[in-house]
Amino acid sequence: MVNVTVCVRFRPLSLSEKRLHGDSICIQALNTQSFTFKDEKEEDITFCFDRVFYQDSEQVDVYDFLAMPIIEGAVNAINGTIIAYGQQTGAGKTYSMEGLGVLDGDRNKKGLLPRVVDGIFEFLQSLVEMTKWTVKLSMVEIYMDKIRDLFDLSKDNIQIKENKCQGIFLLGATEIPITNSTEALQCLCHGIANRAVGETQMNLASSRSHCVYIFSVQQESRTNGSRSKTGKIVLVDLAGSEKADRTGAGGIVLEEAKSINKSLSALGNVINALTAGKVNHIPYRDSKLTRILQDALGGNSRTALLCCCSPSPSNVSESLSTLRFGARHLLKSSPRANMSDAKDNMEQIIDCESLDYKSERLLE
Ligand code: ADP
Ligand code: MG
Repeated sequence: MVNVTVCVRFRPLSLSEKRLHGDSICIQALNTQSFTFKDEKEEDITFCFDRVFYQDSEQVDVYDFLAMPIIEGAVNAINGTIIAYGQQTGAGKTYSMEGLGVLDGDRNKKGLLPRVVDGIFEFLQSLVEMTKWTVKLSMVEIYMDKIRDLFDLSKDNIQIKENKCQGIFLLGATEIPITNSTEALQCLCHGIANRAVGETQMNLASSRSHCVYIFSVQQESRTNGSRSKTGKIVLVDLAGSEKADRTGAGGIVLEEAKSINKSLSALGNVINALTAGKVNHIPYRDSKLTRILQDALGGNSRTALLCCCSPSPSNVSESLSTLRFGARHLLKSSPRANMSDAKDNMEQIIDCESLDYKSERLLE
């Protein structure tokens, strides 16, 4: 069964939220895995996840828990995916992925991307006696179900292909070979800057597109030259999916919202099918997003879903919907300690919730 870890991160209150509701928040921490959440009717709902990162959590905490096992896997040719999900724009997805100043910002505020880069090269360095390695980076954006190369903006309708040798791949997308962290960070900054240029040209906000970062790590044994293995790490900064009416949408904005919602529900359906142990029909082809992620989500890959939320009463409905999205996938997955069947999983849920709180997850 596919291994999915579901975590939640609450960002600190923003200034505008403080202006509206002071310091009031709608969550109460119980422990590192569960909390209660006050819904619109002021009723407490208990949620339990693999890990909850509260407002005071640091970027390094998220990296250690969520990304380290995925890097370890990729170096051993097990594909991995880290997805930042959050219905609301401003929930903390990009902060968690990029952080502030990918290249030269405050060290503590660096997000998952620069840390993953460091992590990959640290692991590889420790294997240098045994293997020769090549790391390549691609960076694309999916907007209105079209894929654009963020290293070459002229490639604005990249097709997804599949063959026996490469698995799923992006036909003609730029793949930059990188040999160390500094080079990788420069490439990332270049892609991020290109994304902003493209957005200005097309007059779109970054929160309306999905950004996909693909690191492929290929290793060749120094002792047995014929043996080579490749692991992929894919990081995804998803678009927000506010309800169209909240943004006062019409025309193109409405079309954007529909396209985002379609791809996010396709992602939800794929993760659901995988965590339910289905093998025959996983609906990868329902969106470009899920098709790109096909071999990073399926098989024996490791997936981490980071559900980003605001803790403020101003955003209860968006946060609740994000939490429900996460909880839906947790219910059937076997994320910790390689638990392998539903019975173990149920025990895990009940254990977490033996506190006699009403449980959203058991109600679903
Ligand atoms: P999203 O990508 O979900 O639309 P952002 O990551 O851009 O949201 O976050 C919105 C704002 O909140 C940004 O100014 C960001 O710096 C800030 N922010 C988000 N998460 C955190 C956090 N954990 N700690 C401090 N500031 C944060
Ligand atoms: Mg963002």
